[in-house]
Amino acid sequence: MDISLQSISFDNISNNSLKEKNISLSIARLDKIHEDVSGNKIFKLHYFIEECLRSSHKTLITFGGAYSNHLVATAFLCSQKGIKSFGIVRGEEPQILSHTLARCKDLGMILKFISRQDYKNFDSNKEEIEELKKIYGDFTIVPEGGYNVTGAKGASLIMNVIKPSLFSHVCTAVGTATTLAGLLLKKKIDQEIIAIPVLKNMVDIPERLNYLGVAVDKKPVVFSDYHFGGYAKHTKELISFMNSFYTETQIPIDLVYTAKMMYAVYDNINSDYFASGSNILCIHTGGLQGNKSLPQGTLIF
Ligand SMILES: *Cc1c(COP(=O)(O)O)cnc(C)c1O
Repeated sequence: MDISLQSISFDNISNNSLKEKNISLSIARLDKIHEDVSGNKIFKLHYFIEECLRSSHKTLITFGGAYSNHLVATAFLCSQKGIKSFGIVRGEEPQILSHTLARCKDLGMILKFISRQDYKNFDSNKEEIEELKKIYGDFTIVPEGGYNVTGAKGASLIMNVIKPSLFSHVCTAVGTATTLAGLLLKKKIDQEIIAIPVLKNMVDIPERLNYLGVAVDKKPVVFSDYHFGGYAKHTKELISFMNSFYTETQIPIDLVYTAKMMYAVYDNINSDYFASGSNILCIHTGGLQGNKSLPQGTLIF
């Protein structure tokens, strides 16, 4: 992993409420790694990229939507490593590419658009994959969001950079739960891993963790009421929280994942979920490029 992890900082947040409650709150700024491959993505992709570099085909295929942090991170890492990358994009080809897809293309990723209907379960559909191999030759396949055991093992590398023994609670936003699985794989006894799903009705976290190779005795605590209506949905309240959080801390957060995580953590600090003496670490999983989908002027950063 040679993109600089040196730039990661641990920012301590201090305010009266935290002082009163005797709680320490820090943010692991994985977003500072790199603009294109920020946050958790570089970790989740680590072993896929290694595997691809060892292969003779040096070609990788992955999947995502028009604003996918995963797609752009993959495109960037592949361009760095001399790997040919293909991105299978959910939905019809638009007249104008989203800023995310335009960036993927600039980085050399070849985009193929497929209808939403065909996209469902595409990454696990053996016939479709065989068809792609006929067209593109052999390749390394990365499921959407890196959602498999290889992705979870990569995500567990996050625990090597955050000195987890210092923290009583480690919090992360949850999309596919691959990052969550990585944290759980290396969690310390007596340490709580807190999951904040950004999708509505995400009731299958235990099944997902099982699929990702996490032992049943390693369970997260789930703060489940902070999806704000569903994936990529947001409210005025969330936007205003993002702005006030930035004013307070000078830390930018993204509207799809990290804003919902921080809102949930603040809410649970207020309602005294965390005991006095807690040492909370929130993982800033990046994704700031997604904020460009908001109208200009919505955010103050
Ligand atoms: C992709 C992403 C996540 C979700 O990670 P999973 O491993 O899919 O749960 C969280 N935060 C950000 C900023 C992301 O881009």
